[in-house]
Amino acid sequence: MPISDSEIAQVRAATDIVALMSEYVALKKSGRRWTGLCPFHGEKTPSFSVNAEEGRYYCFGCRASGDQITFVREMQHLDFIEAVRLLADRAGIELHEDANAGPARKERQELLSAMAAAVEWYHDRLLNAPDARPVRDYLRSRGISGEIARQFKLGWAPDEWDALSAALKLSEKTLTGTGLGFVNKRGRSQDALRARLIFPIFDSAGRAIAVGGRILPPDPNRPVREDARVEAKYKNSPETAIYSKRKTLYALNWAKDDIIKSGEIIVCEGYTDVIAFFGAGLARAVATCGTALGEDHFRTMRNFATRIVLAYDADKAGQSAAASVYQWERQHEVDVLVARLPKGSDPAELAQKDPDALRQAVANAVPFLQFRLDRVLDAANLATAEGRVRAAEAAMLVLAEHPSELVRDQYLMQVADRLRLEPSALRPRVGELARNPVKREIPNEPPPEGPARRRVSSGSMPRPGLEALRLYLHFPREAKERFIAQYFVNETQREIFEGLATGAPVSEVVDALERRGEEDAAGVLSQLVVDELDREYTSDDVTAVVSQLLRRAVSEELKNVERELRGGTLSPDVAMATIRDVKERVSMLETPHGELAEKDLRSWLLTRRAGDTP
Ligand SMILES: [Zn+2]
Repeated sequence: MPISDSEIAQVRAATDIVALMSEYVALKKSGRRWTGLCPFHGEKTPSFSVNAEEGRYYCFGCRASGDQITFVREMQHLDFIEAVRLLADRAGIELHEDANAGPARKERQELLSAMAAAVEWYHDRLLNAPDARPVRDYLRSRGISGEIARQFKLGWAPDEWDALSAALKLSEKTLTGTGLGFVNKRGRSQDALRARLIFPIFDSAGRAIAVGGRILPPDPNRPVREDARVEAKYKNSPETAIYSKRKTLYALNWAKDDIIKSGEIIVCEGYTDVIAFFGAGLARAVATCGTALGEDHFRTMRNFATRIVLAYDADKAGQSAAASVYQWERQHEVDVLVARLPKGSDPAELAQKDPDALRQAVANAVPFLQFRLDRVLDAANLATAEGRVRAAEAAMLVLAEHPSELVRDQYLMQVADRLRLEPSALRPRVGELARNPVKREIPNEPPPEGPARRRVSSGSMPRPGLEALRLYLHFPREAKERFIAQYFVNETQREIFEGLATGAPVSEVVDALERRGEEDAAGVLSQLVVDELDREYTSDDVTAVVSQLLRRAVSEELKNVERELRGGTLSPDVAMATIRDVKERVSMLETPHGELAEKDLRSWLLTRRAGDTP
């Protein structure tokens, strides 16, 4: 059963577009609009504009436009129905189709509620259960207070087979669907995590979607049991219908605000590193969830910040696939930097020992290429000529990976200087390596093509018509009574006006125009609705625009009169009188008698063009 138009309207009305978009993009209030960096194309200055009241967005850069539904469709690669369902979920609206359709969606909803309940249950165990006392002691010893435990909703999975499944009475389907447990060989429900500290993982909207579990280090006061199994330090939820590892960044839900404020995002390796950064006053750290940093992560991150600081252990950072990093920098217009942590230390340790050093490492983060070069040069023996030549060869290999010749050359001079060599001696070798790379990581797949963007521009349209529509949209109190469809000589503008005059929300007007194949009109309206009025308008402005529109509309109509005169369907007397009267009224516009003239001309156009519109 399709979703009805009234339900779609209800979903739109219930969805605050600014709140929705803020889950993905940093928006700032600017006049009556909200603006930000466009999530659909890479850019460094904002050309993305949102009209909160009408629930519309438009990008002046790539011309992406739409409403709440289009937005989630594009961001999450959903079809129309899926997007409406997602927004209905979010707004707590039950769609009529729910009764007999959308089992996948209902299932998703069940998994999300089960995960939320599990996170609460684990959290409560950590805070209150007697068996969690050693865990609480351990956390305190690592500098993790009760306050932090509450902030990150940390939990405790007790050392029992089925404590969670039994307490929450989860069905087999939900248990396995969330990855919270499984059915064992004897056909009984069993928890996936036991005797582990729980780090719940939320999506950027703050919904629990997975959990990570860490074993505690062995208690030195307790003898290790003979039969103790060797277990992985971390055990995480598997990929499920609600959890995609390569799309998720741990802690993004908490870090978002600070990331937007600072324009910087810190990427680290584990949950405890993230918590350490928050503790050191850098509440803009996130971690990947058991996968390497990849294309999907960059897509998410670049919507929030353009400065991305990797805070990995130095060896790990050095191993990041350079070709991919440079490609992401270019493709998403972000800068990837590396925080130089003291050798052998991770952020969690450093935050405890010397939080200042941690903050410094982030503040002094160096570009990725610089970091890689430094590692090569720092490891080299520069005392001998042979050592310097070997270092030069290694440095050239690193340099050659960067796609920009200009960037390569900047660093080449630095390398030459450090190795006491002539830049001209190194340049040919770098050029050669760049053209014939020794080995290169396979570049990531290009981004999938987004829905076709409208290429319509309002730039070539008559100004007065555009002004009139703008006033009509943004200054309705004064404008509503003064405009009629017959004033618009431009077909597209008239279509838009007629849509708006029905009083329907803009998104519905856009939909209706699209359904009728009026793509141009839909595109222009999408843009107009996010335009900012550059000042407060008065009724004088409306009068001026009405006059301009009228002059144009009247002169078009007079051509018809002349045509009729030539064709003999209008007698010369009547035609002449009409032309004289109309021209006289036009000359009176914007004089003290303007109001009267406007009324007369309006009536004349209405009678002349009564049959014009269906
Ligand atoms: Zn754009």
